[in-house]
Amino acid sequence: MANPPFFPESFVAQLKDAVNLTTIVAEVVSLKKAGRNYQGLCPFHTEKSPSFMVNEEKQIFHCFGCGLGGNVFTFLMQYHHLTFPEAVSELAQRLNIPLPRKGIDPPAAGDQSLKEQLRTVQTQAAEFYHHLLLKEKIGQNGRDYLRIRKMDSRIAEEFYLGYAPEGWDRLVSFFMRKKVSLSLLEQAGLIVKKEKGGYYDRFRNRLLFPIFNDRKQVIGFGGRALGQETPKYLNSPESPVFNKSRVLFGLPQASQAIRNHKQVIVVEGYFDLLALYLHGFKQTVATMGTALGAYQIRKLHGLAEDIVLLFDGDPPGIQAAMRSIPLFQQEGVTSRVRVLPAENDPDSFIFQYGAEGFSSELEQAEPMLSFFFNQHIKSVRPRVEDQARMVERLIPHLKVLTSEWEKAHYVGLVSQKLKIPEGILWKSLNKDSPGAKNKGRIEQSLQEEHVSGIEWRILEAMLRLPQAVPLLLNGGKGDLFESPEAKSIYQLIREIYNQKGELDISLLMDRVENQELKNRVSALAIRAFIDQKDEKVFLADLSKRVHLRALQQREKALYEEIRSKEKSGMNEELKVLLARKKDLLQKRKEILTSSTE
Ligand SMILES: [Zn+2]
Repeated sequence: MANPPFFPESFVAQLKDAVNLTTIVAEVVSLKKAGRNYQGLCPFHTEKSPSFMVNEEKQIFHCFGCGLGGNVFTFLMQYHHLTFPEAVSELAQRLNIPLPRKGIDPPAAGDQSLKEQLRTVQTQAAEFYHHLLLKEKIGQNGRDYLRIRKMDSRIAEEFYLGYAPEGWDRLVSFFMRKKVSLSLLEQAGLIVKKEKGGYYDRFRNRLLFPIFNDRKQVIGFGGRALGQETPKYLNSPESPVFNKSRVLFGLPQASQAIRNHKQVIVVEGYFDLLALYLHGFKQTVATMGTALGAYQIRKLHGLAEDIVLLFDGDPPGIQAAMRSIPLFQQEGVTSRVRVLPAENDPDSFIFQYGAEGFSSELEQAEPMLSFFFNQHIKSVRPRVEDQARMVERLIPHLKVLTSEWEKAHYVGLVSQKLKIPEGILWKSLNKDSPGAKNKGRIEQSLQEEHVSGIEWRILEAMLRLPQAVPLLLNGGKGDLFESPEAKSIYQLIREIYNQKGELDISLLMDRVENQELKNRVSALAIRAFIDQKDEKVFLADLSKRVHLRALQQREKALYEEIRSKEKSGMNEELKVLLARKKDLLQKRKEILTSSTE
């Protein structure tokens, strides 16, 4: 049973009654109504046309691109990398439903409980630092610095900023009073072990930016030095809960605005983000001083169609912009790029030119590929060998373009700017063109899923048509099942139907343990019939097949009997059997020629 040793199924059911899968998914995927389903870009794989579906009525989802499917717990588990008990307690927390007394975190939960403990101490540390910044005399340094950077207390509260004062053991003694294990704090990266024993605080005289995960728990910090400390920016080290290449600073604060604007602006610095936020551009996130990675790009792609990357107007800014583009290409995601005028970063720019000036910069953001090719071409000296070398460098970037239109456009651009005939470029391009087709993916996948085996047809009928469930559970149809997977689903459906008087598909999802099987079930369940006529045809066709299958099984048994009688020369009995065989063949013929209408 997939259900947890720790939570009673009634509690899990209570949670599911209280939540709507569509709402949970819509927090991270922009969904559009499509027939009876909602449709969006899959958050689990990279795609350009939406193949991710949510069915509100059945409370399940399925992606026809990567095949993943399930219910609200599957979604939370896959998206936030949680175990089932974690997903349950996460949902309970969000819904403000108290956990049953024998909750999770038994001592044996090992690794998971460590992660939970790490997030707890990070959150406690954030509270401690935040309080010092806003309320305590010792936080004056931090407050002064915020004023210099023209930030107000509203921003400090919104982002839960903190101040780590000077001194070596402020945090150490705070947690010692709370009797929290110091080695846990060390694992969280909050304190550092001294060579001669004992610990000291990692962050001293720094303004702190807590980093939240999607579940709004603190998982790490970034710290800006307020004195001469180096480095100027110090981040928490990697830990079991903190991975710099996966987080985007400011995402929880930005997510609502990102959905509203259908746009996400990506900047490189904490203060860039705060400055834009202060001026009303709340749809902004920041990287943690590293180039965007594949995971972050996929995440951004799931959040908004328009991704704008904003870089400082100096050579390192341009280099950073150029480095990010191939990664987007690898992931098949497009974005727009804007490098600010020389000597400006987003922070200084918006204070100098205001929201209007910034808006016009945003508008001028250029498709990433056009930026990419133009920058490359700009740097070439007008010498034949340099140009030839540049063509060599650009060919791979042209090759990966999947849209023929885009390819033609950029081949034209490169040809014109480098004064190289288009024909030559096309020749090098077509040596081995990728020619990936994305179109018709759903249809194709539907056809693959459209299983021919009678077992899966029966399951499909039960998953899609409530009236088919009692019909197909009767009359020994379970005997028709030969595939063990299909049989196990059939038995689970029977169990649920007997228990609840109807088929609760979301509950079925909890009981199917194997994720592959879950995917298959969600694929079958999520499609709806277009009209009632189709339903009828489908059911009639199915009952015909069921009959045929039953006949086949009887024929098979009969043949074996006949063969054994033939061997032993029992002629009278053989005659009876042969007559029965004729009978069966006749029946089969009747079924096959009957109309399904
Ligand atoms: Zn997918």
